[in-house]
Amino acid sequence: MKKFSFKTRQQNLAALPSVEFDLLIIGGGITGAGAARDASARGMKVALVEASDFASGTSSRSSKLIHGGIRYLENMEFGLVFEALNERTKLFAMAPHLVHPLRFMLPLYKSSRVGMFKMGLGMWLYDALSLFQTPEMHERLSAKESLERMPAIQPQDLEGSFVYSDAYMDDDRLVHETLRAANENGAVCVNYVKAVGASFDADGKIHQVQCKDVLGSGEFSIRAKHIISSVGPWTDQLGSQIIQNWKSILRPTKGIHLTLPKDRLPLTSAVVMAAEKSNRIVFGIPRHEMIIIGTTDTDFKESPEKVEATPEDVRYLLKIVDDYFPGAKLTENDIIASYAGVRPLVHDGSENEGKTSREHVIFTDPAGVTFVAGGKYTTYRLMAEQVVEEALKYFSIEDKVRFANADTTLPLSPYTSVDAFTQAQGQAAEIAHRFGKTLPEAKLLVERYGMEAELIFEANPGAYSYWQLEAAQAIENTMCLHLVDFWTRRVPLFLAEKDHGLSVLEDVAAVFAERLGWSSNQLANEKKSIHDYISKELAWKGRLP
Ligand code: FAD
Repeated sequence: MKKFSFKTRQQNLAALPSVEFDLLIIGGGITGAGAARDASARGMKVALVEASDFASGTSSRSSKLIHGGIRYLENMEFGLVFEALNERTKLFAMAPHLVHPLRFMLPLYKSSRVGMFKMGLGMWLYDALSLFQTPEMHERLSAKESLERMPAIQPQDLEGSFVYSDAYMDDDRLVHETLRAANENGAVCVNYVKAVGASFDADGKIHQVQCKDVLGSGEFSIRAKHIISSVGPWTDQLGSQIIQNWKSILRPTKGIHLTLPKDRLPLTSAVVMAAEKSNRIVFGIPRHEMIIIGTTDTDFKESPEKVEATPEDVRYLLKIVDDYFPGAKLTENDIIASYAGVRPLVHDGSENEGKTSREHVIFTDPAGVTFVAGGKYTTYRLMAEQVVEEALKYFSIEDKVRFANADTTLPLSPYTSVDAFTQAQGQAAEIAHRFGKTLPEAKLLVERYGMEAELIFEANPGAYSYWQLEAAQAIENTMCLHLVDFWTRRVPLFLAEKDHGLSVLEDVAAVFAERLGWSSNQLANEKKSIHDYISKELAWKGRLP
């Protein structure tokens, strides 16, 4: 595959002002990345600008689930659940290294709002809406069977449970891999470039967008036949910057998550916990490297980059875990890290945050900008297809015919098709031997990159440690420019390691310094930024009510 590195960024920066693009996409979260892949696969000339690091918005701050959304059944959002479950099936084949099946236990107590009978109907509906393409059908367990399956769960007043399938994923990496696929198709994507204004032609249509290189401080314009805004929770900010008389459309809500070491909560599968006195649910999700607990859902009115976990948010989640797993006696000292994100929900007049629909909205402003907002990560591929099709309505007949088709259900990369991924897993020992690496190292790299693991070892001969290999891969193939971007959106060092990965800071920083040509001052600032990030994100520690 083509490189997608800091050098690609330099080349792309040079190309952006000099070409007229068919489509300019503003925003490099999963929605923008999906649109860039879709449009470029149709043969369109595509540019994408992202104001910060790719996936630095909501797309790295989700519950990291690819799911139909069992709770949307109660809101009667059957269309949304159906779409999501079918996208789940496609994602298992598109990115088997990033999307993994997971069993979920949903325990029901005497006090639960929904009883076993009604939940049983919901479970049948959930499996049916996936057209029975679920990794495993649901099971109904008695109280005794539930306790045998998950011994640590609160036994008092337990009526029974249901166990069903969904999936966990790496949200940040799915964005990067989708952008790499777009890059492969010729899309010109850059990070750290912010759209700041627009110029209009005589018909009142935007014909170019002013952009600022956040790292180089230069400004330039990008010309495009049509523009897509996929800036998620920043939609009202960008809308009011580039559209006259913009009327705000969002009702953003905040959600936070906590991460725990696996040995602090004995989960035998994921678990669905109900918050007392509300119809909210909170997941406990065991993943390869950690457990994630989340999420919350509260109205959020500030600018999205200000979002953070508060002591009250953390207390709220700990209380729910304590209700379900009283024996675990979790305290704030058990929490490794937290993260917070903003849902770009669209205002639909609902009485409260939890009831606000997760459906996405797509519309085109007369100025020639197609906006997409809301929705779920799970349905990103479909949203991307719909937003590009909406944009195409404004193209000539010839272009509509030329750009009519793209198959975005294909694997994101040939190295991680289902076959290649299975083959790589079978060859881990041989790969380890061939490159003089340990088996655990080769297995981990194969789990994360499929057959690309071979290329990573090949491109980095010598004495690189595991995290140094990851750093080299991030720099060369995900346009990773800063240590914080690596720490938080390429590898789970901040979220999963008890020391947040500080023990490997020097080693990893050395790879960045060498490849990106950092001065000693820059290097010192970058290392400091990791410490600053940890302090800021975990500022709630020691302040719990
Ligand atoms: P974003 O990821 O926010 O991307 C927008 C990008 O636009 C940002 O990177 C931003 O920097 C950039 N930008 C902003 N302004 C500009 C500008 N002027 N110029 C250039 N770029 C700009 N969905 C699921 O399916 N499963 C889940 O488990 C799940 N859990 C969730 C949990 C939480 C707490 C939250 C908040 C959401 C969750 N979601 C989940 C929803 C899902 O994460 C979002 O729908 C999705 O990530 C939105 O992606 P996006 O690309 O639209 O927005």
